Order: sequence, then structure tokens, then C-alpha cells
Amino acid sequence: NKQVILKDYVKGFPKESDLILKTSIVKLKIPNQCSNDAVLVKNLYLSCDPYMRGRMGKTEGSYIDSFTPGSTITGYGVAKIVDSSNPDFKKGDLVWGLTGWEEYSLIRSTRGLFKIQNADLPLSYYTGILGMPGHTAYIGFYEICSPKKGEYVFVSAASGAVGQLVGQFAKLFGCYVVGSAGSKDKVDLLKNKFGFDDAFNYKEEPNLDAALKRYFPNGIDIYFENVGGKMLDAVLLNMRINGRIAVCGMISQYNLEDPDEGIGNLLCLVTKRIRMEGFLVFDYYNLYPKFLEMVVPLVKQGKITYVEDVAQGLENAPNALVGLFSGRNVGKQVVVVARE
Ligand code: NDP
Repeated sequence: NKQVILKDYVKGFPKESDLILKTSIVKLKIPNQCSNDAVLVKNLYLSCDPYMRGRMGKTEGSYIDSFTPGSTITGYGVAKIVDSSNPDFKKGDLVWGLTGWEEYSLIRSTRGLFKIQNADLPLSYYTGILGMPGHTAYIGFYEICSPKKGEYVFVSAASGAVGQLVGQFAKLFGCYVVGSAGSKDKVDLLKNKFGFDDAFNYKEEPNLDAALKRYFPNGIDIYFENVGGKMLDAVLLNMRINGRIAVCGMISQYNLEDPDEGIGNLLCLVTKRIRMEGFLVFDYYNLYPKFLEMVVPLVKQGKITYVEDVAQGLENAPNALVGLFSGRNVGKQVVVVARE
């Protein structure tokens, strides 16, 4: 069983060498004492997600525990059941949810697993558009942003797993949408594939405030926040009265050893009566069936499109994961461990 192990707690930017590949010769089987809810799975696809950086460091009091140095890391993935002690999960069933970064995993509780019903769509989509990032885009946009038709929406990290969907949801809803991303190719994707009204490369903008004023001469109603730092500060100046900010993530801050310089424009929250709300997708899985009901037909009818960046093999998983923090991924970063 090939496994990806965390070497030691990470400080600063993660490197490929922080994760090591090991082969275990222990044959996995469901122990007798886990008699009613354990499953043994064959992992097919693994999801590379920015929140995993938090788990690679030594954190206390976070919403999720650190990984254990010397042990296999875990994350979202798509897998096939090969043995089960739970009658609701049968051998051959396809599932997505929390699993190990390894070829086969023993999952002691099925609480974090969802059975895959629409296996006629690409299975890798359950790491992205039909899985946690897709659900995040759905909750963040519809539940947290309270959108209205015709509003002006700005999305950062807009070509990524979450952002590309937020933009498409906002367009389908009748909003005007602009995205920012870190390369010309990504900007082209936003405009030509995902149908954003406009897009810009934030790395080529010496003054983010001036850039936002150019794209939103009348201001921003909704900001879907994925990056934090200087971008958030500039956005606050450009928000309209009663604007809303869904704080989904702040990837620009995840690798800083010292906290970034203070955000000077936070007072805009008061003067402009902005609602800025953080959310975690984990609190909203009760709405997952509702999300699928909306999004599966849209995907099948081609009304929503999704771009993936696919790395082949567990041996390329560490490189794929750390690539998120330099923007190497174009679209959702997935790792193929095995085909069915
Ligand atoms: P992406 O697929 O967007 O990959 C990460 C992207 O972030 C990179 O490709 C890069 O794109 C951009 N990026 C990396 N470093 C920086 C930086 N310093 N400044 C600006 N942009 C940067 O990831 P996801 O779509 O999976 O996640 C997007 C955000 O959503 C993250 O902040 C993540 O933590 C958050 N999230 C939150 C959830 C929740 O429950 N609240 C659940 C899921 C995700 P570029 O080339 O454009 O710079």
C-alpha cells in the first residue's frame, strides 16, 4: 500500500519534500472490533485543497486537527468500497469523502462518506464541482452572499476549484461578474470558458484599488473572498453600501510566518454597512442533496462547465498539493490514484 506521509510540521511555504512516499506491507483488513461501521476502500481520485496547508502545520484550536508527522495524510477523495461491515455500504459502491492519501484505506466510520449516485458523470468531479469545493461555491454564493439579480460580483482566485463555479452561478443568476487570477491563461479561461463579464491578472496590477475602480466604476455589491490580504483591503474601498462579503478563504495568508500587515480599510465595514461573513462548508452538508439537485442537471445540460488539472499517480500527489500555493494549478487540482 503506497502512502503519502507528512515528514514534519511545516512552517512557511510547503515544499514537495515535506511529504514522502512510503510503501507499507501491512495488509489492511477490517478489525473485528470495528464490526458495524468500518469500510475498506480503494482510492481512485484525491483532491488537493488549500485548507490542507493548515493541517500540515502545528495548529492549536483550529476547526480541524493537524496531521501527525510520520503518518499518512488524509483529505477528500473518491473511492470504491472493497470490503464493508456496514450493510448500507456494499462492496463495489462508489463513495466520496474523507479518506487517506494512499492506495487503500481503512475508514473506521462512514460518517464522512457520501455514496455516489450519479456515476454517469466523471467520477473525478466528486473532488470538485460535485464535491466539497462545488458545495462551498453553492453555499457561499446562495446562502452567504444573498445575491440579487443585476448586482456587481467580484471573485478572487476565480479560476480555481471554487471560484470558477461561483462565477458561473453568479452569471446564471443574472449578476455582472468579474474575476481575478494569477496568469494570462487563467484570465482567458475566465472570460472565454466560464463566461465572466471581465477578468484581470492581479499580479500585473501595481495598484489593486485602481484596477477594481476600472472594472467596477460603480462599486462592488458582492465579494467572494478566496485570497485575503491586500486584495481584501482594496476591495473594501470599492464595496457599495450594504455590500456583502462571503469570506470563504484567505490563501495569501496561509504560508506567512508573521501575520501580514494590518488591513487598513476594515472601517469600511461600518461606514458602508457591509456584511462580511465567514463560513465553513462542513456546517452545511445538510444542504448537499439540494445542491446536487440544482447542479447535476446544469452539468448534464452543459450549462455549467468545469476545468480540472489532473496529476497522474500517488507519486505526483505531493507536487500537485504544494502547487496550489504558487498557482501552478489551472482549475481544480486532482490526483488520479487508480482507474476503477
Ligand atoms: P484553487 O483551485 O483556487 O487553488 C488555489 C489558487 O489560489 C491557486 O491556483 C492560485 O491561483 C491562488 N493563490 C495561491 N496563492 C495566492 C496568493 N498568495 N494570492 C492570491 N492568490 C493565490 O483553490 P480552491 O478553489 O480549492 O480554494 C479557494 C479558496 O477557498 C481557498 O482560500 C480555500 O481555502 C477556500 N475554501 C474554503 C472552504 C470553506 O469551507 N470556507 C472550502 C473550500 C475552499 P492564482 O494563479 O489565481 O493566484
